[in-house]
Amino acid sequence: MIASLIERCHATIAGHAEVLTELDRAIGDGDHGINLERGFDVLLAEKDAIAELPWPKALQEAGKVLVSKVGGASGALYGSFLLGMAKAAEEGVDVASQVEAGVAAVRKRGKSDVGAKTMLDVLVPVSEALAEGRAGDLRRIADEAREATGPMKATRGRASFLGERSIGHCDPGATSARLLIHAVLDVIEQGDAR
Ligand code: ADP
Ligand code: MG
Repeated sequence: MIASLIERCHATIAGHAEVLTELDRAIGDGDHGINLERGFDVLLAEKDAIAELPWPKALQEAGKVLVSKVGGASGALYGSFLLGMAKAAEEGVDVASQVEAGVAAVRKRGKSDVGAKTMLDVLVPVSEALAEGRAGDLRRIADEAREATGPMKATRGRASFLGERSIGHCDPGATSARLLIHAVLDVIEQGDAR
């Protein structure tokens, strides 16, 4: 399962790196896809070692890789997400609560919340739906939440420097979050036990 998650997440990032970078070129500095690809390449290279670890340790290790290799705001934020999940997993809570803790870590690290046109606009509603047991709705919620970042005005991250001019472009981090959520669901729904 851990190996498959890494493979699937790597594949979706590699397959969309250009699109993500293009979105970041519109409202940021044009490196989001490049940043994520660099980190997920390292995760893929370390896949076998990470897959051997118990779940909380695997989350922690993957989080450290993202923090140190992705760079940019998104590396610290996605890394914090996994490190927050890892801490909760260590305490033995269920996956929905782990995800909730991951989202809380992103909020804290980014000093941000929904409505600021960031990855949190996707992560928060998906986490809430998961906590409510609405697993079947997660793809649609992620899609709609990502689309909804288009008309928003950015108030956090580099896009906030553009003010009103950030309106009309979907957020790169919300877009990568949506892609990664689909990738994780693909693996879970396939029930791949590797
Ligand atoms: P950078 O902005 O440093 O170049 P990236 O381009 O890799 O980093 O990532 C940009 C994405 O990070 C944004 O699209 C946004 O979703 C997310 N982001 C940036 N700042 C914050 C923040 N304070 N809180 C939450 N997400 C943020
Ligand atoms: Mg950028």
